[in-house]
Amino acid sequence: MYAVEYQKAKSVADAAAMLAKTGGRALAGGQSLVAAMKLRLAQPGTIVDLRGIAEMTGIRRDGDKLVIGAMTRHAEVASSAEVKRSIPALCALAEGIGDRQVRNMGTIGGSIANNDPAADWPAAVVGLNATVVTNKRRVAADDFFKGMYETALAADEIITEVAFPNPASRFALVGVFVAKLADDGVRAAVTGAAPSVFRSKEIESGLAKSFTADAAKAVKIGAAGLNNDLHGSAEYRAHLVSVMASRAVAACA
Ligand SMILES: Cc1cc2nc3c(=O)[nH]c(=O)nc-3n(C[C@H](O)[C@H](O)[C@H](O)COP(=O)(O)OP(=O)(O)OC[C@H]3O[C@@H](n4cnc5c(N)ncnc54)[C@H](O)[C@@H]3O)c2cc1C
Repeated sequence: MYAVEYQKAKSVADAAAMLAKTGGRALAGGQSLVAAMKLRLAQPGTIVDLRGIAEMTGIRRDGDKLVIGAMTRHAEVASSAEVKRSIPALCALAEGIGDRQVRNMGTIGGSIANNDPAADWPAAVVGLNATVVTNKRRVAADDFFKGMYETALAADEIITEVAFPNPASRFALVGVFVAKLADDGVRAAVTGAAPSVFRSKEIESGLAKSFTADAAKAVKIGAAGLNNDLHGSAEYRAHLVSVMASRAVAACA
């Protein structure tokens, strides 16, 4: 290493002023920057530590958006109940980054700002059409990543948070609740497929003969009377009734 000035910012405004004044580099989790400095690939005269900035951390819902603060660590995303509820794929992505130490130190903002050619977060940001929010503006994912280790960020610009649009409403396209009752035998209630919840006699009689996932899957459901809209055709929903019934039976087992 070489001599370097260290400054610790208390707010985004504070950090922006320090970066503008010194021409230094922001320090987040240090997982990429410190290694680059050791190798002399990066030689900032000053590093501005973002780790004391509370307003850059945390995970919250903002209307139909899931917003993750730039200083949120990979491990926090991986274990977040809010992320799991909203976009579970982000938990899986964060859980797969590096090793435990990297996940406990590295941040989403650092990963996106770094834009390593093989980094995970940029794919999620682009794939989900997220918005990168900085202290100066909001940048659409498609306009943010420019090339190898290159982004649309200006030298003194700081990513403050990333806003992911929530996927679909999460109402079931088709859902099937299967029960095997002591007195009433097998009941299979279907939601999402028709104007109202209904019992599928076809699934019930198939399961009465053999209460197995295969038996449910083998049942052919007619498309007549089922919803037919931009989310799915009546035929597709009919197919899903057997598939979802079969999964419900498999879950019972
Ligand atoms: C052993 C190891 C394994 C890894 N494996 C993976 C992996 O499997 N998948 C993967 O995606 N990544 C992996 N990484 C990278 C890791 O995810 C880093 O955390 C990430 O690249 C950088 O995040 P950081 O918070 O440590 O940022 P830092 O290293 O502190 O900063 C990186 C760069 O971003 C800038 N910066 C940081 N925060 C901001 C901000 N808020 N605004 C503007 N600029 C900012 C810094 O100035 C610097 O240029 C690995 C790293 C290591 C060391």
